[in-house]
Amino acid sequence: MRRLFTPLLIFSVFFVFSCASRKVTLPPPARVKPPVEEPVIRVLVSREYERVTVIPRNVRVLDAGGRPVSPPGNPVTVNARGDVLVVEGKVEPLVRIEGDSPVTIDGDSYSPPLYLVAVGGRVGIVNLVPLERYVSLVLVHEAPGRFKIEALKAIAVAARSYALSMKERRRGEPYDLSGDTFHQLFRGERKVESSIAEAVNETRGEVLTFRGRPALAVYHSTCGGRTESARALWGRDIPYLRSVECGFCTISPRYRWTFEVEREEFLRRLRGEGVRGRTLLDVEITGRSGSGRARSVEVRTEKGTWDIPARRIRRRLGLEKIRSLLFRVTVNNGSVRFDGKGFGHGVGLCQYGAEGMAEEGAGYREILRYYYGNRVRLEKLY
Ligand SMILES: [Zn+2]
Repeated sequence: MRRLFTPLLIFSVFFVFSCASRKVTLPPPARVKPPVEEPVIRVLVSREYERVTVIPRNVRVLDAGGRPVSPPGNPVTVNARGDVLVVEGKVEPLVRIEGDSPVTIDGDSYSPPLYLVAVGGRVGIVNLVPLERYVSLVLVHEAPGRFKIEALKAIAVAARSYALSMKERRRGEPYDLSGDTFHQLFRGERKVESSIAEAVNETRGEVLTFRGRPALAVYHSTCGGRTESARALWGRDIPYLRSVECGFCTISPRYRWTFEVEREEFLRRLRGEGVRGRTLLDVEITGRSGSGRARSVEVRTEKGTWDIPARRIRRRLGLEKIRSLLFRVTVNNGSVRFDGKGFGHGVGLCQYGAEGMAEEGAGYREILRYYYGNRVRLEKLY
């Protein structure tokens, strides 16, 4: 409601002023939306731990109420019990780490503030990172710094929108995103290439929105010719995550790939999917999505036939080996051979496609519109 009053107030002040002086001056531009401050993203550091020992060097280790959990300088050991932490024999909902010096975790360096919290009976380490810094440090891993600036700007907007969307969706959870490839790769402080810094800076605060909320602007490396829809991959219709033709990513080094695996090894990897038998007779794709990606794969041995979701086959054989679901499969004498196109899930913006478009002179707005369609808006939030 407050936003309605602001323009009115400006107007009435101007009105009084103009009556008194009889001078006509334009009122300052009415700020329709209240200013939004740069949000802070809560990133789960790579994985959860059995136990965490904090060795404080120029940092303070505090409980939820802001009191030191042990005498200054003493190492602090933190365990998880259910959904609470046990710190020096005391139960705490969380432990905060504050200070100016970076904290080293598994060889990577993170800038405080951080906090420790119980995640599924283990200790999770969460880093609080201002959104712009977060986007830069994500792009260090997720985008090639040699890309054209307009492609990098499109990826920066996508990464920023995705992070904000997750933040909204995970209100009430202990963190917004994980720092592994499941969400967006984040490994703490890194040297940020000047091209990435520039792309983030030039799009500062810019976010794709859908019906006034940040869009879940997912992206991937290379679609291989056509992107995938959210409906086909996740069974959920998201209007701005539709399948689109992409003729721009042929420049990707991962546009085509092949992977060959010994028959025995193939069967061994699929035992977890219930496949039995010693002799592989056939492997056949039995269903494809509208974009041509494999949905289900039939595996036949002397013991029977199994119909397995293609996604699970990809997981079992390795996401880096079966780089996408856009593949053909053939069984040769000794091996199973996959011939595929693209890298990643294929939904949303195709990064190499964005680069291909930028090479042809497209701006980042045009690139975003191409992949996410015209149902989303580009808004500057701060
Ligand atoms: Zn593409």
